[in-house]
Amino acid sequence: MENTFKSFLAPSRILLGPGPATVNPRVLKALSQPTLGHLDPNVISMMDEIKAMLRNSFLTENEHTFVISAPGSVGMEFSFVNLIEPGEKVIICTNGYFGDRMKQVAERSGAEVVVVAGEWGKPLDIENLKITLKYNPDTKFVGFVSSETSTGVRNDTKALCEIAKQAGCITIVDAVTTLGATEFRVDEWGVDMAYSCSQKGLGSVPGMSPVTISPLAVEKIKNRKTPITSWFLDLNNVWPYWGSFEKRSYHHTAPVNSFYALHESLVILMEEGLENSWSRHTRNHLYLSDAMATLGMDFYVEAPYRLPQLNTILLKEGMDDAAIRKSLLLDYGIEVGAGLGAGFGKLWRIGLMGYGSNIENIDRLMNALKIIL
Ligand SMILES: *Cc1c(COP(=O)(O)O)cnc(C)c1O
Repeated sequence: MENTFKSFLAPSRILLGPGPATVNPRVLKALSQPTLGHLDPNVISMMDEIKAMLRNSFLTENEHTFVISAPGSVGMEFSFVNLIEPGEKVIICTNGYFGDRMKQVAERSGAEVVVVAGEWGKPLDIENLKITLKYNPDTKFVGFVSSETSTGVRNDTKALCEIAKQAGCITIVDAVTTLGATEFRVDEWGVDMAYSCSQKGLGSVPGMSPVTISPLAVEKIKNRKTPITSWFLDLNNVWPYWGSFEKRSYHHTAPVNSFYALHESLVILMEEGLENSWSRHTRNHLYLSDAMATLGMDFYVEAPYRLPQLNTILLKEGMDDAAIRKSLLLDYGIEVGAGLGAGFGKLWRIGLMGYGSNIENIDRLMNALKIIL
């Protein structure tokens, strides 16, 4: 049979959705370097730099700061499958799609899950967590999402962790859309377990999940009475691959080219400076906000709780969601995200993340929108 298949050619796009964000060409260049063996000393020293730069990004001294070779959702699974023993009580605070996913993952890990249900589009209620902890004094863990990508809401990680720590709980925080884009302080805020991803605030290619684990959480994992049900995600199995420089041993064939990419995205972040990156995300968010106002378009979320890296914009009466997004994509090469769940057809999710958070992208989007409308 004659072959009709040809090489795939990716069109050029500006990715202004909920992730992946547009990747810096420096990262793509790093990715395309020759593949090395995953135990090559050059790879091992690069991995050590990844760990060091991740500590600088998470603002932590945690030794156990490394990468799971899988997307952010697996970072979530990793956290729960390692920490939780069957029947242990976990409070999950939810106010969006990813909080709901966390609840499902917690249930599958065998936890007894108590949900503090918040409202979509509103930040999590600190008092509600306080009361729920009071009525559930046997709670061992509190989990929540710091940046709810489904709604564009910023939850108050610092305040939520403070309450959880006062009650003696271990905290599990989703930082998938947060890391590199907005303020996140693991040690200062009392975050015990956090996981993120490569393709949002860090601006690398998808498929990597940076994680960090506090000594308290590591101790909890070491003192488990029941075995961890996942072989691949068992910290005791994966840590020898990421742990000491001298005694590195095979766990899985790590996707080394993706490590090159993540490494380069972290170098770029270190060059810019973490706090400078946070303020760039905020500046560009405000620029978008002003530009949207000129079209008479408003945000779904109240100003103090908006995520600079994920802007949820309400559609106006009579705007055809699907047609406009299709034209943006096919005529202008710009991707914006649709609403999730109840927000579908009612709002857009405009990501200004990592390398993609710049004035030029916003101007292009606004010019295209003005022509389409
Ligand atoms: C994107 C996202 C995830 C899932 O990450 P993947 O890399 O898509 O698996 C989890 N939580 C939040 C808050 C996210 O935005």
